[in-house]
Amino acid sequence: MKKSKISSVFMLPLLAMSILLINQCDINEDVIYRRIRDHADQVKVINTHEHQHWPEEFGDYHFRFYHLISASYLASDVSSAGANGYDWNLMDSLSLDELWDVYGKALDYTRSTSYYSQFVRGFQKQYGFDDLYFTKENISGLSIRIEDNYRNYKAWFDEAFHKAGFELMFLDQYWKPFNTEIDDKYFALDFQIGPLVSESGNKPDKGSELKSIYKEADNEGYEINNLDDYLEYCDHLFRKNIERKAVCVKNSQAYSRTLYYEDVPYEEARILYDKPSSRLAPSEAKKIEDFMFHWIIQKSIEYKLPVQIHTGYLAGNGNVLDNGQPIKLNNLFLKYRDAEFVLFHGGFPWTGEIAALGKMFPNVYIDLVWLPQISREEAVHAFDVMLDCVPYNKFFWGGDCGLIEESTGSLEYAKDVVSEVLANRVERGLLTEDVALEIINRIFRENAIEVFQLEKRLGREF
Ligand SMILES: [Zn+2]
Repeated sequence: MKKSKISSVFMLPLLAMSILLINQCDINEDVIYRRIRDHADQVKVINTHEHQHWPEEFGDYHFRFYHLISASYLASDVSSAGANGYDWNLMDSLSLDELWDVYGKALDYTRSTSYYSQFVRGFQKQYGFDDLYFTKENISGLSIRIEDNYRNYKAWFDEAFHKAGFELMFLDQYWKPFNTEIDDKYFALDFQIGPLVSESGNKPDKGSELKSIYKEADNEGYEINNLDDYLEYCDHLFRKNIERKAVCVKNSQAYSRTLYYEDVPYEEARILYDKPSSRLAPSEAKKIEDFMFHWIIQKSIEYKLPVQIHTGYLAGNGNVLDNGQPIKLNNLFLKYRDAEFVLFHGGFPWTGEIAALGKMFPNVYIDLVWLPQISREEAVHAFDVMLDCVPYNKFFWGGDCGLIEESTGSLEYAKDVVSEVLANRVERGLLTEDVALEIINRIFRENAIEVFQLEKRLGREF
């Protein structure tokens, strides 16, 4: 007893000292974090992936708070929590209070998710919203301001774009993949190659209505009777996109098929293409598609366009997760050493595979796009591991959103994640602060300018 009394006398000051030291460490880390985070706010961001829509592209709606949720990733968490999915006509016809009765409970259940928090971050930055959560009461003022902004969305977009800190966004128009007319003031064209691959095994029967790429070809005076005709038109699309200063191609095919692309010889693909698509077995249609993506990679080398690929988790409320496993692409990285591949989304939940592939292949890059929105904490962990494995001139960031508020939240969230990881490394003596700041510049701007050759292609000074 006596002994323990003596030791507790010594223990008390020791304990006090260690608490003081821990506090000091926290304060240091906080100061370092603040400096890095503030630096991130000074960077003019090159955003390597967006799906920005003009509001009218959603239809003729009167945009309010719920329309913005509905156009965001958060909508799928709200559905996952049990809501019936957002009904755009309902959103136009009911009052905010009535809509809260429909969606409020499910929305509240999503308060813990990253989709929710990053969505709030956008309103904090753009609208000065300072609550942690949306409530029945606090959304009414917000909604009036949204309504006001969306009356003249282009002016609002311009203001919010600059306030968020963007310099340029790469625009992937998956909903209208053949459109090459975009506003160069904000966007760089991302050539969405989905239809080139998927329609190769789905050509229309003779005499039936032309759709998708076949309709486009017809409109442009191209007649497609065989694989060579098809490739000629696809090459025309490449050249057309390049004329409009496309900076990369984009493969989002994990939404509809596996990312494993077998190496199919031209002769085999040519014979299969000649068969009516309606009589192709699924495995035969896949072979033509596989051939097409190999052909596209070869074209991307010829035209010097990096190839962005969706990997991992799929947006929405139901799909085949296994389709997007990053390692399925391994054969392509081995075969096409001169192509530049950019893997998206940290490959979540296979983030380790992305780190390993980025480490192994000099021509495999990592885009952190969307990862912090899917899971903030996984992004912190995964980015830390990726930094262990992959040189920092190989990372990019993209927003991946449909409207400017959510893109803003996405950027804020990514800056938080990257700054947190870097501050922690500086505090632990693993990195100096000047290198941490350089990494910020690289991820949010300079790597994209280098790899996507932006000065040359866009003729702009950065
Ligand atoms: Zn996307």
